[in-house]
Amino acid sequence: MSGLPPSGRRVDAGSGAAPARISLRGVAKTYVSTRGRVDALGPVDLEVAEGEFVVLAGPSGCGKTTLLNLVAGFEPPTAGEILVGGRPVAGPGPDRVMIFQEPALFPWLNVLDNVIFGLRQHTHLPPAERRAIAEHYLELVHLEGFARAFVHELSGGMKQRVALARALAPEPRALLCDEPFGSLDALTRERLYAEIQEIHARTRKTVLFVTHNTREAACLADRVLVLTACPARIKKTLAVSLPRPRDFYDARVSGLAGEILAELRSEITENVGKNDERDQAGV
Ligand code: ADP
Ligand code: MG
Repeated sequence: MSGLPPSGRRVDAGSGAAPARISLRGVAKTYVSTRGRVDALGPVDLEVAEGEFVVLAGPSGCGKTTLLNLVAGFEPPTAGEILVGGRPVAGPGPDRVMIFQEPALFPWLNVLDNVIFGLRQHTHLPPAERRAIAEHYLELVHLEGFARAFVHELSGGMKQRVALARALAPEPRALLCDEPFGSLDALTRERLYAEIQEIHARTRKTVLFVTHNTREAACLADRVLVLTACPARIKKTLAVSLPRPRDFYDARVSGLAGEILAELRSEITENVGKNDERDQAGV
């Protein structure tokens, strides 16, 4: 099975499903709220190659979701520019899709209709074709036998696979994943690591994947970016050349996870140190 819909037809003949390059140039975000100013991100310079799987690992609250939200176009950066496929991001677009920790499926629709919903903007496609595309992506996530099931009949891992099929159906050029396995139990997550690697190998999307699980980062990434505490900047880049598919318990994956953890620990310790200094200075 290829990553193409069964008809061989591309969902979007214009931009196609070719993976997009993602470029961040001097990107920063400051939130201003009633609680004051929060420098949440950057400045960050980052080039993600077409089809590359980049994992962002950083301490909780450092600005990981903020970075994904900016690339998704949900909110504008305060400084800098973001390009996807060479085009400046000016808002959400069909070339990018976000996958969240909670799959946010519609309980009143069955699995197939939830996936078809992902094609709602593709009004040029006849219903039979939308259905065939949705069935293809359900097969890709190994849920072809559950097309008629309802969301409450599915396990957490299955729900997340439906969300993945729905995200892939409109053939985005980039997937933005915000801790998508964060609320799943360990055994379910381990199965999904194998599946997401298989899906990436077949569909070759560009992936920006956020996690604070270091072994997950080592298992999935072509490149791991360890982020600083808030505001997130790139502290360290680790290129991962281990062969694929990778086993979550492979000793080399564990070794790399250890390296990422050491970077994160030193970041958290340094930051605690800074806060202590600030406390002592009465700042
Ligand atoms: P992470 O995903 O790494 O846990 P976030 O990107 O959600 O971190 O948040 C980074 C920082 O920005 C945090 O201090 C958070 O409180 C702040 N923040 C996030 N969104 C907003 C917002 N809409 N308004 C004000 N502050 C925000
Ligand atoms: Mg977050």
